[in-house]
Amino acid sequence: MSLSVRGQPYKIPEYSLTGDLLAYLVCGLQYRYYSRGSLPPSTPVQLWFGEFIHGVMEEAYLEWKQSQRRKRFPWNWDPDIREIELRINQRLRTRGLNPPPRLFCPYDSSFNREGWCSDTNHPHRLIASERTEAAINTWGQHLFPLIDDPEVRLKGIREMPNYQPGISRCNYYGITGVIDVISSVNLQDAPSGNLILHYIHQNHELQQIITNLATTEYEIIIDYKGMRRPPTNDPTWQHHEWQILTYAWLRSQQPQSISIVAGIIFYLNELALSIEDLRELQKDIANN
Ligand SMILES: [Zn+2]
Repeated sequence: MSLSVRGQPYKIPEYSLTGDLLAYLVCGLQYRYYSRGSLPPSTPVQLWFGEFIHGVMEEAYLEWKQSQRRKRFPWNWDPDIREIELRINQRLRTRGLNPPPRLFCPYDSSFNREGWCSDTNHPHRLIASERTEAAINTWGQHLFPLIDDPEVRLKGIREMPNYQPGISRCNYYGITGVIDVISSVNLQDAPSGNLILHYIHQNHELQQIITNLATTEYEIIIDYKGMRRPPTNDPTWQHHEWQILTYAWLRSQQPQSISIVAGIIFYLNELALSIEDLRELQKDIANN
């Protein structure tokens, strides 16, 4: 009696724009070590702050949603925002992400040594905290009411280009992505005085699209970045455009999605610039 051999499982390879394509474009060898070889990455300042600000904004949104008191802005840094910061910092630490010194004070007032700070007057409102406070108090009241779904995980599937049976890994490949915020707007009950909607409706091109919609509802895709706005001739600027377009495509593949009219990126570091940011901004202006 001969036993039949079980075939290889049919597995569609999955990629994400940020985790795979952009990481590969930065350095192919590094991508091979970190992503495919699972070598733990070092934690540069931007990575930590990006994760931190995402966590803080999401947590702030949940508090806003659950509590009447939180519907009033501005929030106080200490204790309202500070409590969220410490919680997110704790969460990042368990994942091995520690705050870079001079960016964030991780101590509360009961800590009586200097630690990484310049004196013992903890908590210090360092630049990461200036930015979380500015982000919540500048955009929270406009952003939170528009949030329909935070942290939306999406998957899409595409045909493998140049597919050759028996040679290519698979005839399809998957694309994954996590959208920070999907907001659905119904023109009939849109919140009045909302700055984000105001900017969208002021944009001539977008207004045209919205007027021509068959329904009164549309979606906006929102992404936060814990960085300054890159110059428009920088590859990063183009990568962010790809990212928004990829998310819009992924979203459009979902049966419950409605027309996506705009993608918005918030470069949250612009709300509180460091000296280094100002120097870079000066360079950008000099380069037109
Ligand atoms: Zn401190």
